[in-house]
Amino acid sequence: MQNDLPRFEVYAMRYATRTAMRRDHFIGGDPHEASMPMDYYVWAIVGKTRTVVVDTGFSSAVALLRGREHLRCPADALRLIGIDAAEVQDVVITHMHYDHAGNLPKFPGARVHVQEAEMQFACGRHMRERVLAYSYECEDVVCAVRLNFAGRVTFCQGDTELCPGISLHLAGGHTPGMQFVRVHTQRGWVVLASDVAHYYENIEARRPFPIVADLPQMVDGWSRVNALADSAQHVIPGHDPLVMARYPAPRSSLEGIVARLDVDPLSSC
Ligand SMILES: [Zn+2]
Repeated sequence: MQNDLPRFEVYAMRYATRTAMRRDHFIGGDPHEASMPMDYYVWAIVGKTRTVVVDTGFSSAVALLRGREHLRCPADALRLIGIDAAEVQDVVITHMHYDHAGNLPKFPGARVHVQEAEMQFACGRHMRERVLAYSYECEDVVCAVRLNFAGRVTFCQGDTELCPGISLHLAGGHTPGMQFVRVHTQRGWVVLASDVAHYYENIEARRPFPIVADLPQMVDGWSRVNALADSAQHVIPGHDPLVMARYPAPRSSLEGIVARLDVDPLSSC
């Protein structure tokens, strides 16, 4: 922890879920026939003078299209922790996949921070290949292009400081422009890994998730996440239901909906 840096509160909001099996989440599958559900999150970083939303989730219409269970609109549900999406000034998009980059019109005042490599990929020739385009929603990409024409997109090129205490880091791997977020908190440096590691097990057992643009980059991304987080307990994976189990809700009515990540994990974990 650095005393001269601001300390932010960090929240994970669970907005959707789906049933899945262990074999779905590791290259090469898994010998155990066991359930391993996937949760979908957006994150909020709240400081004294600045609120940053990390990823914007997908809509109920996209959930229906893709057979996901939509629990709540992530943009609207930010109100549960006192955030009005219409007032948010900064949105970080970790990558342009459908489960991270939808709902942008719900943030009409925000500047969007995305890696240039990710936008180039999402607008480039590979999107004619279904195997690569499948995880992108064309309308989300079009929306981001419109925001660029309106001057509201910041193209990050590699690692960049968003403001003192919050930095963005290009990892690649899962997608060419995958980035993760490092945040200074009361318990030190927390890393929102997003899909650099979907589950704790991906990064801890070094077993990659099957959707991958560049496997060596994904592996290097784990090392960078670990190097920039104060400990393994400061790494927050992108889709793991254990996040909700390991961290407390800000108040009891938000159990299972919001977890607070700038405080230590619960002692039983
Ligand atoms: Zn994802």
